[in-house]
Amino acid sequence: MRCQPRRDRIVSAKLAHMNLVAPRTPRKLALLLALSAPLSLAAEAPARFHSTEIHADRSVTFFYKDAAATKVTLALDGVAKPIPMEKDTTGIWTVTTQPLTPEIYSYHFEADGVLHSRVNFTDDEAKAIVEETHRLGKKVAAHAIGSDGIAAALRAGVDTIEHGDGLTDAQMDEMVRRGIYWVPTITVGAYVAPGRGSNWAKMVDLEKVAFQKALKKGMKIALGTDAGGFDWKALNQATEFEYYVKYGMTPMQAIRSGTAVAAELLGWSDRIGSVEAGKFADLVAVSGDPLSDVTELERVKFVMKAGTVLKSDIH
Ligand SMILES: [Zn+2]
Repeated sequence: MRCQPRRDRIVSAKLAHMNLVAPRTPRKLALLLALSAPLSLAAEAPARFHSTEIHADRSVTFFYKDAAATKVTLALDGVAKPIPMEKDTTGIWTVTTQPLTPEIYSYHFEADGVLHSRVNFTDDEAKAIVEETHRLGKKVAAHAIGSDGIAAALRAGVDTIEHGDGLTDAQMDEMVRRGIYWVPTITVGAYVAPGRGSNWAKMVDLEKVAFQKALKKGMKIALGTDAGGFDWKALNQATEFEYYVKYGMTPMQAIRSGTAVAAELLGWSDRIGSVEAGKFADLVAVSGDPLSDVTELERVKFVMKAGTVLKSDIH
């Protein structure tokens, strides 16, 4: 079931986190918007992609150096609409999408009480991403919010779910059964919620409930922070440990979540995650007892990376 266009779409899928990407194929253009917007744009005729511009109303203009087609098809929310292309005075072809309304790209609750969102990839695309990545011996992390995206990621066979807001009980059970990890990223969710409004505050509560259920079910929870989603000089990433303990882990469980379990997730248990002969000497030290107060990890006094001391405030 492998064919060239699909491989091109994989390239774009891998870059999707940069928000907007275009594969290099001249025959077919498929552009994907991150943030769960189910937008794809296809020009079936030769067109040389030039650049994109995202406008304040969330409409998008695509620019082509040349195009044999005079229109492209925009598939939004499952409905394909042809949009005419225009040639500007400099000879560049352009096409502008309709504005993406909040309903289209936002996370929302439906009558079932579950958090939903539109899924970015078809099952074929997601499976191709996982197959190709596993073939190269790598793990696949799915940056997934909303139960539909999580379900799609699980169907595709990913190794870990990042964020995971909207995890259902059945999905948690499946993850436990299949040994799939969850990286809940509580800190960044709580940090961005006030500014984003909409359902984001509810999503923070949802993560708390899910975390407590997952813990009871014995899910593999690995500590991750979504670094880049916040200014890590202003917000201490180790706050994540504090949330895990507040939500029910023992301090040791939280520490293992950020060390041994996270190493396991990466497939790096032979190199990192515990203090043992033969592993990287990656160590931190604090001045208090993190087992009685896990916030000690927010006040790291000593850092050794692969045997080299990078910080030492312990005298
Ligand atoms: Zn993220």
